[in-house]
Amino acid sequence: MAHGAGTLSLGASRRHVLEGGGSVVDLVGTSLAKARELASLNAFLELFEDSALKQARSVDQRIAAGEAGPLAGAVISIKDNICYKGHRVSAASRMLEGFESLFSATVVDRLLNADAVILGRTNCDEFAMGSSNENSAFGAVRNPIDTARVPGGSSGGAAASVAAGIVHAALGSDTGGSIRQPASFTGTVGFKPTYGRVSRYGLIAFASSFDQIGPFANSVEDATAIYNVMAGHDPMDSTTSTRQDAAVELRGTGPLRIAFYRDCIEREGVDPAIREAMLRTVTRLQSEGHTLVDVPLPLLDHQVPTYYILATAEASSNLARYDGIHYGYRSPDAKGVDDTYRASRSKGFGPEVQRRILLGTFVLSAGYYDAYYAQAQRVRRLIRDATLSTLSEHDLILLPTSPMTAFECGALSEDPIAMYLQDIFTVQSNLAGNPAISVPLGRDPNGLPFGAQLLSAPFQEDKLLNAARSLFPAS
Ligand code: GLN
Repeated sequence: MAHGAGTLSLGASRRHVLEGGGSVVDLVGTSLAKARELASLNAFLELFEDSALKQARSVDQRIAAGEAGPLAGAVISIKDNICYKGHRVSAASRMLEGFESLFSATVVDRLLNADAVILGRTNCDEFAMGSSNENSAFGAVRNPIDTARVPGGSSGGAAASVAAGIVHAALGSDTGGSIRQPASFTGTVGFKPTYGRVSRYGLIAFASSFDQIGPFANSVEDATAIYNVMAGHDPMDSTTSTRQDAAVELRGTGPLRIAFYRDCIEREGVDPAIREAMLRTVTRLQSEGHTLVDVPLPLLDHQVPTYYILATAEASSNLARYDGIHYGYRSPDAKGVDDTYRASRSKGFGPEVQRRILLGTFVLSAGYYDAYYAQAQRVRRLIRDATLSTLSEHDLILLPTSPMTAFECGALSEDPIAMYLQDIFTVQSNLAGNPAISVPLGRDPNGLPFGAQLLSAPFQEDKLLNAARSLFPAS
């Protein structure tokens, strides 16, 4: 059953409140009511009603005083791995159930300073590990387009909150595709900026050399508005770039050189509706004066294994801090230190997180380190070099976001490898660090949406977002 997909526009909402059409308090009231009405989607783990209304009242005052920030009128959700001081955050894990943030992520501070309202925290796969949002300790999320299907993952609640028309935009995190694949599954825009463009301070770490925060929205304009507020150097995250060219101005684009991977579009396993829409897009863009060049996708069969070796290695290290002693869940029955570690981690983490910790610890262990971890680092470098070389000769790369449309709940849960292969077209940008965006491209015969993905060279968000808007005007 479908919930009428909402297409809330942040731009329209901003004009509405600035021109005196209504208050931000009313907007928040409407969003809260809609979230409650659609509670069965399980998109939100918590609505921050008190702080959202408080922020709304102060934004209304600033509007009245003529001091409205760039995001006045925006109601936004944050994924449950982004810290907001004084609010709970759990990474959808029993391990952090009831934990309250002691500080806010830089992105949260920047959004609030720009007069956005944060409505609540959205459900996700536990510690952002998954492609369907079925790995949450607090239940799966339903796709608002068809509630028998998954919304994608790991930022499934974020995608659903936008697609269902509850919020104007959502913050997600993307380590291997977790913003772009759910955007594809829900007919929304999902944007992963360059690694280092947006601060990760206050993002619960999964794989630190891949993780990146980015927006979901109903249009490229709205995603750009959120990105512009979040992007730029942060002294609290030493991996953020000090470049001064973060801000994007949308103005259109001239003819572009676009690389595409015919091989991967025509590959077995790509849904025929997606294949046909991609091939039609290639023809359309050519007829609009762009140059489309068929290039080989670098090391396609090695991308997913490389990602899963490196991401699990980093996760096993990052998640070592949840030891049942410093903070988080502690088993009440454990006796002694070893038993406390074992019992707390066995009960606090779900099966997928445990699988990843085991795999990550294995690939880092003495005797296997060179064969797996060090080798995967070398392959990552090859994939990165090949990607950047393609992007030095072409403005963009065009490829599908996902090989399929939203699948039925439970369809892949018993088959981790099939689930991992979901990420085949998204991990390239995380391995290479370049920005990537998924924009709605079409619908399959069942009415399920799917996206097209565009990649640009690192720190070329301006080119990427301008192209996404011009080449896919419907988005
Ligand atoms: N699906 C991928 C994984 O499970 C990506 C997750 C993500 O981007 N956070 O690792």
